[in-house]
Amino acid sequence: MPAKKVKKSTEKSVQSDAAKAVKYSYNFGKKTDGNSKLRELLGGKGANLAEMARIGLPVPPGFTVTTEVCSYFEDHGHRYPKTLAAEVKASVTVIEKQVGKKLGSDKDPLLLSVRSGARESMPGMMDTILNLGLNDTTVKALATESGSEAFAYDCYRRFIQMYGDVVMGVHAVNENDHCPFEGILENIRKEAGVTLDNELQAADLKELIKRYKAVIKQRTGTAFPQDAYEQLWGSVGAVFSSWQNERATLYRQKYGIPATWGTAVNVQAMVFGNMGDTCATGVAFTRNPANGEKVFYGEYLINAQGEDVVAGIRTPNPIATLKDEMPKVYADLEAVRKKLERHFKDMQDFEFTVENGKLWMLQTRNGKRTGLAAIRIAVELVNEKLIDQKAALLKIPADSISSLLVAVFDPTAEAKAKTLTTGLPAGPGAASGKICFAAAEAEAVAAKGGHAILCRLETTPEDLRGMIAAEGILTSRGGVSSHAALIARQMNKVCVCGAAEVAINYGAETLTIRHTVFKNGDDISIDGTTGEIFAGALATAPSEVDQVLNGKLKPADSYTYQMYAQVMKWADKHRKLGVRANADSPAQAKSAIAYGAEGIGLCRTEHMFFEGDRITYMRQMILATDQKERRKALKKLLPFQRKDFTGLFKAMAGLPVTVRLLDPPLHEFLPHDESSKHELANSLGVDVDVISNRVHALHESNPMLGHRGCRLGISYPEITEMQARAIFEAAAACYKLKKPIKVIPEVMIPLVGFAGELKNQVAVVHRIAAEVMQKKGVYFKYLVGTMIEVPRGALTADEIAETAEFFSFGTNDLTQTGLGMSRDDAGSYLGRYKNLDILPQNPFASIDVAGVGQLVQIGAQKGRQVKKDLKLGVCGEHGGDPASIEFFHAVGLDYVSCSPPRVPVARLAAAHSALRANK
Ligand code: PEP
Ligand code: MG
Repeated sequence: MPAKKVKKSTEKSVQSDAAKAVKYSYNFGKKTDGNSKLRELLGGKGANLAEMARIGLPVPPGFTVTTEVCSYFEDHGHRYPKTLAAEVKASVTVIEKQVGKKLGSDKDPLLLSVRSGARESMPGMMDTILNLGLNDTTVKALATESGSEAFAYDCYRRFIQMYGDVVMGVHAVNENDHCPFEGILENIRKEAGVTLDNELQAADLKELIKRYKAVIKQRTGTAFPQDAYEQLWGSVGAVFSSWQNERATLYRQKYGIPATWGTAVNVQAMVFGNMGDTCATGVAFTRNPANGEKVFYGEYLINAQGEDVVAGIRTPNPIATLKDEMPKVYADLEAVRKKLERHFKDMQDFEFTVENGKLWMLQTRNGKRTGLAAIRIAVELVNEKLIDQKAALLKIPADSISSLLVAVFDPTAEAKAKTLTTGLPAGPGAASGKICFAAAEAEAVAAKGGHAILCRLETTPEDLRGMIAAEGILTSRGGVSSHAALIARQMNKVCVCGAAEVAINYGAETLTIRHTVFKNGDDISIDGTTGEIFAGALATAPSEVDQVLNGKLKPADSYTYQMYAQVMKWADKHRKLGVRANADSPAQAKSAIAYGAEGIGLCRTEHMFFEGDRITYMRQMILATDQKERRKALKKLLPFQRKDFTGLFKAMAGLPVTVRLLDPPLHEFLPHDESSKHELANSLGVDVDVISNRVHALHESNPMLGHRGCRLGISYPEITEMQARAIFEAAAACYKLKKPIKVIPEVMIPLVGFAGELKNQVAVVHRIAAEVMQKKGVYFKYLVGTMIEVPRGALTADEIAETAEFFSFGTNDLTQTGLGMSRDDAGSYLGRYKNLDILPQNPFASIDVAGVGQLVQIGAQKGRQVKKDLKLGVCGEHGGDPASIEFFHAVGLDYVSCSPPRVPVARLAAAHSALRANK
């Protein structure tokens, strides 16, 4: 019941609520108070129920209790605003009048559903109650009205089961325990000699109800409530409380949904899909959510309640067969499908029920979709003139582009592999990994860097952790709108569901497909695009887009590529930020160009020192005890570096290339284990002690804060000289080519915190540039700039800008030094920080706007105070993260630089930032 005994202080605020006359309950049906714009208040479900009612779709009448009540409920020890009870009563009366039935009446009783509905949909994370209003008396009335005792008692037993579980807390105690209600139901089925629930007779169901009530009494000490309003308030409270349950909390953390939003509660007149063979229930999408194709997509069950479809207990029929089974309803659904898309201008995911041949709409929302589907739907909605380019871009999450670039199985490996069986393709892509039967196992495999395939009979929200950790999900039951399928699509996970030939035995930890038995930890591969399942770990091959980009497939032969190209073209038209790539080799540079990079924002030269003989010369250089020896070794490295830079410049064909001078602490290049020390000693003709002593001498307690970055070039200017020489000689060579390439090299000095450091190094670079140009007789433009990656660099950016011709924010080190958190070790506690909401996300993946972001902002502003047109970029990992890109756009950077495969994501994210900023 609402507002039991309220303390004095609370009463005051309750009274002030009353004084303000805040509206807490919004009706929908013949009388509709809300609309789709009120998502914040009514949640997505409530707002869209109102909207559907408004546009004349058949919606059973109901009302929505607002999200404000959820917040109030949490802040006031699970009590409600004082005025709510009267509002709810009035709203129930409105429903009663519309349907001509009364709640709790012993003649033709009104039955209600109570469902959650947050601003963003959180499928299956919160609780639902159906058939509310049934008790030992009303069930008899329902039996009379419906003409079916079995139906009435089936509704009652379902209600008791849900209410017992959700409101009264009677459920399985752990992952291996059985739901007590399911156990009782199974026994009754056995005793009745039937296999399906809907084969149970009224007498069986009455016995079942008796046992359900008994288990509730035994577990809780309280009887199942008979009063309809007590049931209603119990249900409303349970749904509000479920906002804070573990799976909803975990879901919110994963998708960045603030806990303060709260959920609304929707109370609605029940319609029945389980009253006989002229009834049905289903879930449908206006387009295929797995690949975006414009086909009516969905499934239904005859004579069933909605939860049966989603729970995956019975495998439903594809929507197309409804055309034969219920032609009139199918035609009505087709009309609804068209109306919904025209009205909401997006692919809709809707739930419906057919009660005695009459179609009722229970929900609609923008459908969750795979990355591939998001792109196809957006592109085709533009082609159909339902939306424009800008709206289309905003409908494609930037990260979804990467799903077009995901691997597929290597065709040769796949051709050789035997398909063991096929399930429903629910989340496209190819995945292989170790069979895990429980969420915790999948997490453990992933934590060790392995790949897991989570294999379950069907998934429930409890499996969420495992689904996040796994590469792919395989279920033996459930349809394409089962929990597993919905969640997998949203997470862009590979998923095959409803694979009926897959027999999973949790107890024995085996998965059997016909005669092949797999054990926990065995390798398996699944293709979420075709639904195929293979034994072993199949090799994967690049995506169609990659194949076109690499010249292995013609654009005309790949619709996927054409859509990708279209979206990228639109994105490039609208974005303001430039997008470069971090690349250290000609191969990486080529891939960067293929993905649309407009230059290289970071070439980490240290990556060039590991191949072949280079590491030996590098080590000679490091081990040298005087400058003469060091120069000797550097001379050997020079031709390698020159060749590398020439290759890069050629691959980039005149696009800007930023080359960063040597950055990491030198000990990173030295051997640490005994056998490699001996090997090096032999190759250098020195005693192994020499090596050991030097390694020891170079040891630092905090190498990331140690002798690295520009400090190396300041200590050993000959290193800077060699690298600058290699860069300029390579550029000169490009100018001298038959078809000259006009390279404007950008030399970047790392880890600068003092203007003096930069001045020191810039002087060396300028001296070498002049020498090379004079010697080669070629004169060209070049830039010398710096990384801003320590707080002092950002704070004194005005002083540094006097010398720098560009800045690139090294947000990896700026996060490390700004937060004082080691970028290599923070993983051990960041998870906890995230769970506790201390840090909403990993600051090394997504920029900490308030802290590190502020340093970037100060650096940018101070730099441009001195040089108005100072070129500003970012080359830390954040350069490929959509949320960070939005921030970099807002701060006014010129470009972001990220790994080549993130370039398309960054291009789209940059377009989103520009479009949102202009809204
Ligand atoms: C950075 O610190 O952000 C950066 C790009 O440099 P690195 O990752 O090589 O330290
Ligand atoms: Mg750095």
